[in-house]
Amino acid sequence: MADKLNLEIITPERRVFSEAVEEVVVPGLDGELGILPQHTPLISQLKTGLLTYRQGSDRQSIHVSGGFVEVLPDRVSVLSDVAERPEEIDVERARRARERAEKRLSGQGLAGDGDDIDFRRAELKLQRAMIRIQLAGRE
Ligand code: ATP
Repeated sequence: MADKLNLEIITPERRVFSEAVEEVVVPGLDGELGILPQHTPLISQLKTGLLTYRQGSDRQSIHVSGGFVEVLPDRVSVLSDVAERPEEIDVERARRARERAEKRLSGQGLAGDGDDIDFRRAELKLQRAMIRIQLAGRE
């Protein structure tokens, strides 16, 4: 199957996806990384964003956040902290998470006066919440 890629997406909790696809685009730390079959082997870190894959003319996206992608000529393996299909996303929960994160980032409710770790955590939660809301397509 030289014209296909076996895409596998795994989180610490579960296998989210394992199917043959024709093309994958992942949110690499240094930007989007497009992968076609027979790609040069590589490993890259992932940031929070959308992984998009194509099967024929059908394109679908999955929210991934953190972790790594390993690319081989016939296989793409994603090991991510978080991976969610659009239909799994609870938009109200994401909206609440976005509000909490925005409050923290604006300085209200940060434990220990603007602590740097809390700030980065809130920023990451905000990014995840915004991608969830975007992917679920309700806003
Ligand atoms: P919250 O504050 O709502 O828990 P969070 O950003 O802290 O959000 P994460 O740490 O990103 O949550 O994720 C923890 C787990 O909960 C993961 O398994 C993730 O897939 C799931 N999860 C988080 N938010 C949502 C959501 N809005 N819809 C569906 N699953 C979610």
